[in-house]
Amino acid sequence: MTALVPDSAWASLALPDGTAELRRFPMREAPADAGWLRVTASGICGTDVRLCADGLPEPTVLGHHVVGELATAGPLAQRRWGLVPGDHVVVEEYLPCGHCETCASGWYRLCPATDLWSGGRRIGTVPASVEPGLSGGNAEYLYLPANAVVHKLPPELPWSLAAWTLPLANALDWLLEAAALVAGERVVVLGPGYHGLAAAAAAKQAGAAAVVVCGRPSDGKRLELAANLGCETVVLSGGAGPVSAIRAALGGHSADVVLDAGASDPDTIRWSLTLLGFRGRLVLTSPKEPATAAVDTGLLTRRMLTFRAVRGRSPRWITRAIELLASGKSGLDHVPTAEIGLAEVGDMLARLAAGTGPSTPHVVVCPGTVRA
Ligand SMILES: [Zn+2]
Ligand SMILES: [Zn+2]
Repeated sequence: MTALVPDSAWASLALPDGTAELRRFPMREAPADAGWLRVTASGICGTDVRLCADGLPEPTVLGHHVVGELATAGPLAQRRWGLVPGDHVVVEEYLPCGHCETCASGWYRLCPATDLWSGGRRIGTVPASVEPGLSGGNAEYLYLPANAVVHKLPPELPWSLAAWTLPLANALDWLLEAAALVAGERVVVLGPGYHGLAAAAAAKQAGAAAVVVCGRPSDGKRLELAANLGCETVVLSGGAGPVSAIRAALGGHSADVVLDAGASDPDTIRWSLTLLGFRGRLVLTSPKEPATAAVDTGLLTRRMLTFRAVRGRSPRWITRAIELLASGKSGLDHVPTAEIGLAEVGDMLARLAAGTGPSTPHVVVCPGTVRA
């Protein structure tokens, strides 16, 4: 074992009963085609909260928005990844097979080997019983298997900002690729969470003429963060139609793009479509509960609307997100970071599930800052 990695590492182990405990895992030498990442920041997102709330089938080290420093990597891995130990990297959550039709087409994020809905596995969802156990970001070290997807970060990019890479890359893909947003268009973002704020930043960067971010009354602080990014904000209080309030925030105009990163209520689909003008696009980022929504097909046809659903991002938007974050112009450096140590992960997941989490959606586990 090289001197760069210790013999064991601490991790926060999420348990099937919804709690989490600290556990020390042995570390083995990485084979020639794999490596170890020293985790510096691991972002917590709604998926983690949902995984815990739904009940994990097995104890798991969560954390799938991971950045850190390559501690060690075998010669094959270094060549394949184009990295050397010491490089700063962001890790995509996908663990694609690399040789199926889906992977060959470039859509490796939908490879059955890594598609959760097909029983696939990802960083941060692999049970801890699978060797070497350290397969999530909520740990001092993350094992990088041969099929890990990693991207180099500029060394000067602060870790808390680097932890925005995946949400920002998602937002860029969803707005600029899926919704084909162009400068001068008007954008509505439903939900001021991790992805909602990233989308607000991405829309501003794309030169949107107006960006309106909508949230619930309990989202007050997060809407303030959206306002700090230069967005208009609307509190959706139910009852009195959200459409007229949002349209007023748009200066009486229709929206060109609505990005739904908000509530699970399927009724948002119905009224979001009415916000759109000719050739408008509605982008859905996660399933509704219940899953079925009423859609006015007459409206879809008359206004030539597009209804897109999205999942993850293609790698080119990772590159763009890194450029934006490194340029200092993303605006996301103005969003506060709630940093926690490994010992606090369980409590934080419970707070987030109960809706009593921090006012900022940027919650980051920093395994090195608070030692076990
Ligand atoms: Zn996530
Ligand atoms: Zn594949």
